[in-house]
Amino acid sequence: MKIAIYPGSFDPVTKGHMDIITRAAALFDRLIVLVASNVMKRDCLFSAGERIELLRRCCGGMPNVTVDCDEGLIAEYARRVGATAIVKGLRAMSDFDYEFQQALTNRQLNSRVETIFLAASGESMYLSSSMVKQVCALGGDVSSFVPPEALPEILSRMRG
Ligand code: ADP
Repeated sequence: MKIAIYPGSFDPVTKGHMDIITRAAALFDRLIVLVASNVMKRDCLFSAGERIELLRRCCGGMPNVTVDCDEGLIAEYARRVGATAIVKGLRAMSDFDYEFQQALTNRQLNSRVETIFLAASGESMYLSSSMVKQVCALGGDVSSFVPPEALPEILSRMRG
């Protein structure tokens, strides 16, 4: 049983995240989408609980995908659940330096875990959660950036 973790802040989930989730779910027996709840320290639009709820709704049709949350080290979480891979999405070279540092650190912390990078698809190459928030805050249409299951909550949270 090959278990992978896909960690992130998912504030909010985008079609770019869903693309990575769909492709990673096809590569592993089980994929755990892990909401990093410690990013509450940053300015978050949704609480960790709400982010989990939105992700669960979006991943509802994928039987080998589960959603969890953790505030500790990903390497420790991986050890606890027996995961052997951490999946990351790479958009541009700008993601690379930070992700590479994290991958090396996680392998140092848990030598059984490999980080697997999936290249973003062309359409979501420039898509990020913060871009969605910016466009939405300025009244733009974000329906092509986020999964339809999450759109109503995002609109009502952003626009009140
Ligand atoms: P963001 O950087 O948008 O705030 P997260 O911290 O939630 O997103 O990102 C979680 C993971 O998903 C990271 O590995 C990130 O590189 C990847 N990711 C984010 N957006 C995309 C996208 N549009 N296409 C592919 N991967 C993405």
